[in-house]
Amino acid sequence: MSQFSFTIDAECPETWARAGTIQTPHGTIQTPIFMPVGTQATVKSVSAEELREARVAIILANTYHLMLRPGSQLIAEFGGLHRFMHWDGPILTDSGGFQVFSLGHLRKLSEEGVAFKSHLDGSLHQLTPENVMEIESQLGADIILPLDICASYPCTPEAAKEAMEVTHRWAERALIARERFPSGQTLFGIVQGAFEAELRQQSARFIGGLPFPGLAIGGLSVGEPKAEMWDLMRYVTPELPKGKPRHLLGVGSPEDFVTGVGLGMDMFDCALPTRVARHGGLFTRYGRINIKSARYRTGHAPIEEDCDCYTCRNYCAAYIHHLARSGEQLYYRLGSIHNLRYMLRLSSQLRAAIIAGTYAAFRNYFLTQYIPTSEQVREKQREKWKAARRNL
Ligand SMILES: [Zn+2]
Repeated sequence: MSQFSFTIDAECPETWARAGTIQTPHGTIQTPIFMPVGTQATVKSVSAEELREARVAIILANTYHLMLRPGSQLIAEFGGLHRFMHWDGPILTDSGGFQVFSLGHLRKLSEEGVAFKSHLDGSLHQLTPENVMEIESQLGADIILPLDICASYPCTPEAAKEAMEVTHRWAERALIARERFPSGQTLFGIVQGAFEAELRQQSARFIGGLPFPGLAIGGLSVGEPKAEMWDLMRYVTPELPKGKPRHLLGVGSPEDFVTGVGLGMDMFDCALPTRVARHGGLFTRYGRINIKSARYRTGHAPIEEDCDCYTCRNYCAAYIHHLARSGEQLYYRLGSIHNLRYMLRLSSQLRAAIIAGTYAAFRNYFLTQYIPTSEQVREKQREKWKAARRNL
């Protein structure tokens, strides 16, 4: 018996924003929600207790990384991810497809699935819609995703169509395969279609019509300009069934979170808040600051004056600046905690605004206050991270 349900608690009268409640075997999630990414079954440098204190409701873990190391079979022997990583709240695992396409070497794509070489040791692996269901059942997350193809940006309309059609066939195979692994897990469908509005709509209708209790939008935020992503979402959302939760995969900077909610999305995940924190980028209502900057050397106030996170309640900006400049381990933890709490506080603020019927005003005010990082800076960071990944 599935213990999964989704109810809509309130809808914005002016936009597509909605507030909802998701029930999972490991607890309740109130939406809109930001989900931190715990790639290796850990949100880097932050313990489960600290995640709880930051009011994290659900985390995402990466199937690709965990199947390669330590192995899904081993995690199953420890009772699944929840027990293995000492996190008793909801978990979502992706299918591994996205990482195969971005990290795996010598990929070989066929109708059957995708074969690749591990980026760790060069060993050969294959993912199919069927074995991904088995691997994810071993990991034991509450919400799981089927194998899909994430087309790269830019991509020709022909390649986009081909990737979408294979993704659709794999979605049907995943639905059949998951019957073999009885569990309390809930399988979401993934909408693809790359950067073609018509394909996106077609995919939303097709995947939305299959018996998936929830839907994810994949293949966005892969290097395209933000405006293009939001344009596509304006085509996609009206085609999605209303009563299912919607997860915008891999999107989760503060400004994208606030904007995406207005386009009808409920769940967001992104490694960005913890990743930029480790590099000195901390969120405030006025935008991202660089805590390593000299202007914080003598700051007596916390990073953000009225932030209720553990870091801001206990430390002044000057100390955080000192830790960051010295490359101290404690900095990674304190910086990550601040950004996580910022995103979770933003989740509850968005929800409260939707319930109060003031989301549109909240969004407009937030976006005038919050100065986002420019596309140019973003591009530079992406290049840096790509280079770092190549050296893994
Ligand atoms: Zn804080």
